[in-house]
Amino acid sequence: MPPEVHSVLGASAADRWMNCTPSAQLTAGMEDETTTFAAEGTAAHALCEWKVRKALKMRAGRRPTSDYWTDEMEEFTDDYRDFIMDLVGQAKLTCKDPVTLIEQHLDFSCYVPDGFGTGDFLLVADKELNVVDFKYGRGVAVYADHNPQMMLYALGALNLFDCLYDIEQVTMTIFQPRLSSISTWTISAEELYKWAEEVLKPKAELAAKGEGEFISGSWCRFCKARNTCRARAESFLELAKMEFQPPALLSDVIFCERKEWIGIEERSSA
Ligand code: SF4
Repeated sequence: MPPEVHSVLGASAADRWMNCTPSAQLTAGMEDETTTFAAEGTAAHALCEWKVRKALKMRAGRRPTSDYWTDEMEEFTDDYRDFIMDLVGQAKLTCKDPVTLIEQHLDFSCYVPDGFGTGDFLLVADKELNVVDFKYGRGVAVYADHNPQMMLYALGALNLFDCLYDIEQVTMTIFQPRLSSISTWTISAEELYKWAEEVLKPKAELAAKGEGEFISGSWCRFCKARNTCRARAESFLELAKMEFQPPALLSDVIFCERKEWIGIEERSSA
C-alpha cells in the first residue's frame, strides 16, 4: 500500500514502533525517504487498483500511467487481480452478496492514537472478513502470521463492519508476487480484539508519548534513524565484541591447524 505519510503511528511501521516504542516520536520530524522502490510500489498499487475496479465492474477511470511501468509489472498486477477475483468467486459460493472495498481508509484510533491506514482490498462475506495487502517489494518476504500491519488493518476494518455484520473470523493475506509469495493467516475476531487491548494498546500509548526502551532488531531496516541511532550502533558493537572475543581454550580445530602449521615448518626447514 502507499506510504502513510500523516500518521506517526501508521500501520506500515507498526512492527518498528511496537518493538521500539520511542522510535515513532524520534523519527516523526525526519524527512521521508523517497526511493525508486517506493515510487515503483506506488505505480504498481495504482495499476492493481485500476485492474481490480475494472474486473469488479466498479468505476475505474482512466488507466494510470507511470514511468515505472514494465511488462513484469503488467504481469504481476494481472496476477493480483486474478487472485482477488478468485477470492470474490469463492465468497460468492456461500454468500449471495459479498461486500468489497478497494483502497479503503481504515481508522484504528480507538487502539492507536491518531492511527489510520489504507487497506488495499477488503471483503466481507457472512461471518468472515478478508484483508489483502499487495506488496511489490522483492527484497524481503513479508508474512501474514501475527503481522502487526495486517492486524491493524483488520482492526480498522472491524471498526467499519462489525456493527453491520457479525464477523467471527478474519483472514489476512499478503500478496507479494515478485517473491512468488502468498501468505495467509486467520484469527478469530475475539482473539484479535484481545490482542488489541492487551498488547497493542499499551505499546501504542508508550509510542505516542515517545516512551519505552530503544530496542534494535530487524525492524530497524526501515527506520529513518537507523544510520545515527545509538541503540543500534551499540548492539552492533556488542555483536562485534562477541565475534572477536578469543576463546579461553584452544578448540580441536585450532589445535589441528597448529599441528599442520608445525608440520609445514618442519618440512620447509628440512
Ligand atoms: S534504528 Fe532501531 S533501535 Fe534505533 S530508533 Fe530506529 S527502530 Fe529503534
